[in-house]
Amino acid sequence: MIKQDRIVRNSYERGDYKSMVKQSDILIVGAGTASSYLSWLMTKRGYSVTIIERDLKGKVGQRLEVIHFETDRLKNSGLPLPKKGTPELIGVHDTDTVVSPDYKSHIKVRALQSIIRLPLFLERLHGILESEGVKIEYKCKFIELVYQNKKIVGLVAEKNGEKVEFRSRLIVDASGTVAAVRTSLPPEYGVETFKLGPNDVMHVLLQYIKWSKPDEPHPPILHGYIYYQAWLGPSGLKEGAILGIGQGGSYENAKKALEDLLKTANFPPYEILKSEQGITPYRRPPYSLVSDAFLCIGDAAAITYPFSGHGVTATWNLCKIAADVIEKALKQDDYISRDLLWEINVNYFKDQGAKFAALFTQLSGILNFSEKEWNYILKKELIYKTGDDEDEDDIPEPNKEFEEEMTIGEVLKFISSMLLGIIKRKLSLKHVLRLISSNGLAGKIRKHYENFPENPNDFDSWTEKTKELWNKKKVALKKYPSVTIEYR
Ligand SMILES: Cc1cc2nc3c(=O)[nH]c(=O)nc-3n(C[C@H](O)[C@H](O)[C@H](O)COP(=O)(O)OP(=O)(O)OC[C@H]3O[C@@H](n4cnc5c(N)ncnc54)[C@H](O)[C@@H]3O)c2cc1C
Repeated sequence: MIKQDRIVRNSYERGDYKSMVKQSDILIVGAGTASSYLSWLMTKRGYSVTIIERDLKGKVGQRLEVIHFETDRLKNSGLPLPKKGTPELIGVHDTDTVVSPDYKSHIKVRALQSIIRLPLFLERLHGILESEGVKIEYKCKFIELVYQNKKIVGLVAEKNGEKVEFRSRLIVDASGTVAAVRTSLPPEYGVETFKLGPNDVMHVLLQYIKWSKPDEPHPPILHGYIYYQAWLGPSGLKEGAILGIGQGGSYENAKKALEDLLKTANFPPYEILKSEQGITPYRRPPYSLVSDAFLCIGDAAAITYPFSGHGVTATWNLCKIAADVIEKALKQDDYISRDLLWEINVNYFKDQGAKFAALFTQLSGILNFSEKEWNYILKKELIYKTGDDEDEDDIPEPNKEFEEEMTIGEVLKFISSMLLGIIKRKLSLKHVLRLISSNGLAGKIRKHYENFPENPNDFDSWTEKTKELWNKKKVALKKYPSVTIEYR
């Protein structure tokens, strides 16, 4: 273990660096939420961590102002929590309301969310990290990996127009959707190098709105327009909200779907104060997250909740798993090989990874349902099982553990409502069959991920079978009045 960052003269025979070689146990590319959490876990265990971040100090995370964290996962992270009454924490909410496209069904669901200003959260966290000894090199951009005997031993970054070399026992790619390090790996290194294409992401548009006549009735915040994959959420402004939408393919698709929603939503007049946009991964992660001296996390590993596109707390479970395995690996006075890191794959994919893979597959069945079908599905509570609204315990909490357990009675009710829907022509037989088939495939995919090979030697045959399963996943077509969007 390197207790403190050592700086050693560059003895590397490349000759193109004016700078020195900087060395630490773990080197993380990117200073977003994924990197910050893993750094925090590792520095608390006594390991030296360096982060390189291409943005300036104070600019990190500014691409998004307001972001939702799942409160229970934030609490379970162990991180010092944002304090009430500070500008960082806009509010904490327990429930959300899911609205049908005909606006007749309003279903209250439990959704424990903390609404946080991301740049302020990161600023506070970076302060804590630096006080614990983590080195954050701002304005320092990853350029390329350094290999010895074809194995990663460090990287080269650019800072103030100069190339700087960093040596580390482990390089972590937490560079977000660009996945700068992962996509630069040689194909034979053992981690897929795909870049996120337009169909691998959700294009998210956010409008910070202010009601022009706040006294006129307007929807309460935390409304989910499920069919449109759109929502209203708190912006921190008493008389305003964030109107958000996420769609595959392009921002243009998201814009058109939002226009369709607005034609029916009947919102009172509002002014758009500012707009933000960005992409969030909507695809399966690489089959392996690790290789020799390498790990990828966060958006760089395409780890987001399939049903919401949220990625912040989605990756923290992986970080916890990784921290345990990395600690064991670092304790061995040896090169951090793929084999030493393999347990990260096993422990992640057997549990959360398997559940996310299944949910992602199920969604390809659900996305085909039309506006009319969604009205029926929500009216009949086929997705959100509600009980007595007065009883707090009866409020459904979808995706709590990323799986829906149904009693036999509930399964029978579900099937009979589906059949009735088909008979009454509220649901198309084709779409119901697609749902059944994608659910069947989801079960197989989940089981397969639960059997993620403990021995890296079995990985190739596991991957072949996984590819076969993913190839069976069908393209979903989401039809809006003015655009049809393909989900692969
Ligand atoms: C509009 C929108 C709304 C969202 N809302 C939510 C939400 O409410 N809740 C939620 O959980 N998630 C939300 N997400 C998703 C969430 O923002 C991401 O999943 C999460 O921020 C990913 O964190 P990360 O640390 O992996 O990557 P990032 O936060 O993207 O951090 C990566 C960092 O790496 C740096 N970097 C990139 N390339 C290099 C390089 N070559 N060298 C050095 N540094 C580099 C970047 O500057 C950046 O600071 C939203 C996404 C969008 C687009």
